[in-house]
Amino acid sequence: MELTEIRIKLIRDKADKLRAFASITLDQTLVIRDLKIIEGGNGLFVAMPSRKLCDRCPACGGKNHLRSRFCNDCGARLRDYRGRMDERGRPRLYADISHPINQDARDYVQGRVIHAYKHELDRSKQDGYVATTFDDLDYEYYDQTEADV
Ligand SMILES: [Zn+2]
Repeated sequence: MELTEIRIKLIRDKADKLRAFASITLDQTLVIRDLKIIEGGNGLFVAMPSRKLCDRCPACGGKNHLRSRFCNDCGARLRDYRGRMDERGRPRLYADISHPINQDARDYVQGRVIHAYKHELDRSKQDGYVATTFDDLDYEYYDQTEADV
């Protein structure tokens, strides 16, 4: 499998650990969006697109993110630490939507995406830099704790 296109959208807020969004194209066939390039404690890493895990309010059945403390629909107080724990004993709040199947694949994708990010960063320092068009990018709510992995 080849990543035939990688698009990088740099994020300029240095206070944030999120450095860029990326989209990748696999074999000129399938696009995966909303990868994130994050400055972690051990350097840059790539977070695959993920969704927030939800559960249902015991009082009204409304859907709430696992971190919500009150039901969005009825306002009932919700239990803390709902859902399953991860291997480090912390609540699992997100699930990957797509992800590499093994470590080699992860290294390959991450290496290519970070290379593209650094290239884009260099380009951005040149005069007349025009950011890559990213019409289809969702600037979804970004949760800082995602970067704490
Ligand atoms: Zn409720």
